[in-house]
Formats: sequence, structure tokens, C-alpha cells
Amino acid sequence: MSSDTIIKSPRDWREAPNLRDYEAARADFSWEAARRELEGLPDNLGLNIAHEAVDRHASGPKRDQPAIRCLGKKGDVREFTYGELSALSNRFANALQRVGAGKGDRVYVMAGRIPELYIAALGALKNRSVFCPLFSAFGPEPVRSRLAIGQARVLVTTESLYERKISRLRSSLPFLESVLLIGEAGKSTNAPGTHDYHRLLNQCSDRFSIAATAPEDVALLHFTSGTTGTPKGAVHVHEAVVAHHATGKLALDLHPGDVFWCTADPGWVTGASYGVIAPLTNGVTSIVDEAGFDPDRWYGILQNHKVSVWYTAPTAIRMLMKAGSALARKYDLHALRFLASVGEPLNPEAVVWGKETFGLPFHDNWWQTETGGIMIANFASMNIKPGSMGRPLPGVEAAIVRKKSNGTVEAIQEPNVEGELALRPGWPSMFRGYWNEPQRYEKCFAGGYYLTGDLARRDADGYYWFVGRKDDVIKTSGHLVGPFEVESALMEHKAVAEAGVIGKPDPVAMEIVKAFVSLKEGYAESEDLRRELLGFARTRLGAAVAPKQIDFVAALPRTRSGKIMRRLLKARELGLPEGDLSTLETSEE
Ligand code: ATP
Ligand code: MG
Repeated sequence: MSSDTIIKSPRDWREAPNLRDYEAARADFSWEAARRELEGLPDNLGLNIAHEAVDRHASGPKRDQPAIRCLGKKGDVREFTYGELSALSNRFANALQRVGAGKGDRVYVMAGRIPELYIAALGALKNRSVFCPLFSAFGPEPVRSRLAIGQARVLVTTESLYERKISRLRSSLPFLESVLLIGEAGKSTNAPGTHDYHRLLNQCSDRFSIAATAPEDVALLHFTSGTTGTPKGAVHVHEAVVAHHATGKLALDLHPGDVFWCTADPGWVTGASYGVIAPLTNGVTSIVDEAGFDPDRWYGILQNHKVSVWYTAPTAIRMLMKAGSALARKYDLHALRFLASVGEPLNPEAVVWGKETFGLPFHDNWWQTETGGIMIANFASMNIKPGSMGRPLPGVEAAIVRKKSNGTVEAIQEPNVEGELALRPGWPSMFRGYWNEPQRYEKCFAGGYYLTGDLARRDADGYYWFVGRKDDVIKTSGHLVGPFEVESALMEHKAVAEAGVIGKPDPVAMEIVKAFVSLKEGYAESEDLRRELLGFARTRLGAAVAPKQIDFVAALPRTRSGKIMRRLLKARELGLPEGDLSTLETSEE
């Protein structure tokens, strides 16, 4: 696909976008004004995420509107209005006080996407404790190390997860004073410091007044995906809610009356910022699905719940593409208005596939655990250049920078030059540190910029294009090659479902480009196909950039948050140590 393909923004909008004119919105925007769209705690007591997410609506006209609709694995549906969610999170906040957890104490939640998780997250924020989500499929060691890094005081989890992953470790976690167990079989344990979640909440009042919360009070501890190495614990404060709210409105185009579905798990930052906080501050109804990915189930949810705004990830989109457009067409998806994607580069093929299949393109956006919220986006009112991440949010100053020989950092002004993507600190959801790793944090800043570790370029129209992670970029015969470009070209071949590309050391070329490819159903690996793909890539990319080697694989290794782990492809190829695998997705999921 040519890089100047454009998908024009439709002008016959069903709902006029919140951001109608990009340049005007940027010129008018200030974070102070964005802050004024929120309410603040009564009596000038500060700013608290949970107040903005639920209590504000619970005391207004949205009181009886569904806030979250939780779809159970077995087809049961449980819905909670803003009023109910406010009362239940009050109970949880009171429960925390009863077990002695207060301001700044870390409250970890490890559970599937069940209502208790959402109630605990909001209740912990009300109590000014630090909410730390843990992905439920982590094995015992990743759980132990994350609990230890953040010195968890309270853990909320299910009975079965506790039995499988925590009970044997408990003696090695002296800081963990209280465990609140969500009983499934009703056999709640009586061990000291262990409580039955529901029994405890039932004993607590559903009234709670949030105490003074400074915008800089720590609210969230989020571990990164571990794609490039050992996961880091990014610290966020209550003020982040200003960015959650504004980006939900501007980048995801949330409108009152929307039914919104963010498919990410709250164990990752997307599932918290946009699966819990932003939809609630924007007062929409949010869908929470307990089950995992399944094309039929997903289309069924989009249809039956009349989802209007859908925020998902490239891996899921690629899997839906693999399942074919015909399946999507069996469903009535007319309620859909806006599709967005995050987490990995979104191949141009996928953007166009959305347009062909749903009549709507996917809008890629870019951000990180560290940025707390969306930083670069394709807005509803903007033309899309498939393969581009879009343009910086109003209030966000992005740059492409390079390190000079004297070690200082300077912004590259010319368009289309690759460099490191950098952001000027100052947006509200900027991380305030890596938990207990000040040096790792310091290293992220230079020349007044936060350095993201991603390489990108900006074109003459101000659109940003992802090139690759700094660690993944391939140096071959004097060229710098981003794996994304090669993967996207391979994906244009009809047989290719997914591709992962690495640089393999080579005495002559420094590195050669090597691709790992998984095939769509109906295609079998063969020497002929390998040759065809090598030729196909050469025609598209030129001999210097095209892969020299292609291996077929059944599936690519990926993180549990769905990102291709190129470092693992490389380590395995070279027979090197595999490094931190705590976030590697395994077949048991
Ligand atoms: P770790 O920092 O532990 O290696 P991670 O960077 O994968 O893990 P996250 O914070 O979950 O952890 O992911 C953010 C990264 O995901 C970005 O830095 C970028 O590399 C990638 N990413 C996110 N969205 C996009 C996008 N739209 N296009 C390209 N890459 C993206
Ligand atoms: Mg990262």
C-alpha cells in the first residue's frame, strides 16, 4: 500500500466529533481549561479520580444510567448504574479502612474482568490508596515480584487464584497484611489477615466521604508490558484524570449516550485508563467482558449491546481479519460509530480492512504506560493516512529528537527524518516515577524532553509514523530498518496472518533482516511459498530492506497484553538467554 493513501474523514457525521478542527482545538486548548471540565471534590478538597468517575454522576442526572455492563463468561449479564457503583465503591473504601489501609498504601487487585475488580479500583482511589492491577494469568513468580516491588498492603483476588498463586507464597510477603477473597465456591478461608470480600463489604456502610486529595497524591501503580525487558512500575497521580477525561473525549470521541467497549484487561494501563476511568468520567456506558477473545463472541457483543465506540488492539484486529470479513457481515453492527486501536503499530492493511468490513476505519493511537493516556491519535474529524499514528493531542507537544555527538538532545525540524519520539513533560497523566527505580526514571529525560524509547518520523503534514522501538531497529548494510515496515509489507500478502521481524547479526551486513511469519488458514508452509514471500517483500521494500530469511511459525511469541516480543524471537534465533518472561503469553490461557 502506498504511504500516501488517505482515508478521508466523512463529513456526514452521525454525531459531530468532539474535536472538529484539529488546528483550532490545539490553539484553544489548555490543561487548566480541561481541568475545569471536571468537578473537583466538594468544599475545595482537591481532585480525586473516583469522584470524577462515579460520585459526580451518582449525585446528578446520570444516577440511574448504567455505568458498567459486565458480561460473564457463561452469558450472565450484571449491570451497575452510576449510583450503584458509587455506593459499592464506598463500601469498598470503608472496608479498606476497616482493615487498616489508608492513604498511599498499595492495594493490589488480581482478578479477571469481574465487577469486583472495578469496585475495588474505584474504592481504593476513594480511600486515597494506590490501586495496582495485576493481570490474572500471571504465574506465581511474576505475582510475587510485583507484590514485593510495590510492598502491597492489601490484595484483592479470587479464591481460586489465591489457592493457585498466593497461598504458598504468603509467608514470604510479610508486608501483605490483608487479603480480600472473592469467594466462588463459598469456602472462604479463615487464615489470619484473610477476609471474605463480599461479607466484609456487606458489613460496611455504603456512604463514604472522600478526604482531601491533592492532585499530586499517588493514585495508580502500573507495570509496563515487559516487551523490551524487565517490567517497570510506573507511578501516576490523581491529576491524571484530567488527561483521561480529555483524551477520552477528544481522541476516542466519547459522547453522552455512547456504549463504549475497551477490550483491554485492566491489568494493563489501557484497561485501567480507558477500561475504567475515561469512560466513567465521560459518563458513558462501558462494556466489560469477562471472556477472552473469540470472533463470534466479539461480534455478538458489538451487535447485541449496540456498541458505538470500540477501542481494541492490533493483535485482535489481525485475528479478526484472519477469521474473515464474511463472519463480520453476519452481524448487524450499525451502532458502531468510531473504531480505535492501540498497543502496537497498526498495519495499514488493518486500517483499510476496517473500512471495508465495518464501513469505518480503525483510528490508531499511540501512548505508553508512562504517558498514562493517549498522546498521539487519529481523530474522528481528521483524514487518516493508514500506517500513521496520527497527530499529537491538544496540550501535548511531541518532537522527533536525536542525540548529538556531545550527548545533548535536539529536536529535528525537517520532516520525514527518523529519530526518537520525545514529549515535553507537563501533561497531567505523565508518570511521576518508576516505583523504587529513580535512576531508571532519570534516564528517560534529556534536553527538557521525556524520551519514549520509540523511533518515529513526522511527515510534512505533522502526522507521526512509528518506525520501531529503539531496541528493535535493525542496522543492515548501512540502512536503519524498522521491523514494522517489513512486517506490514509481508502482511499485504494474502497468505500472511502475522509477521515478526528481527535483525540477525551478520559478518558482512552487520545485521540481516529476518522474518517470522504465521499463515492464514488454508495456506501451508512450503519452499515455494517462502520464495514467493521473499520475492513479494523485495518488490515492495527493495532489496536493502526486504528480509533475507523467512521462517514459518505457528504463532508469534507475544506479551499477555498482545505485543509481539521481538526480543524473544531474537534470543531464540541466536540461542541467547531469554530474559524476563513474566509477561509472555503461554498456551494455557
Ligand atoms: P516495556 O516498557 O516493559 O518494554 P511496553 O513498552 O510494551 O513494555 P507498554 O507501556 O504497555 O509497555 O507499551 C507501550 C509501547 O507500545 C510504546 O512505547 C510503543 O512501543 C508500543 N505502542 C503502543 N501504541 C502504539 C501504536 N499505536 N503504534 C506503535 N507502537 C505502539
Ligand atoms: Mg515501554
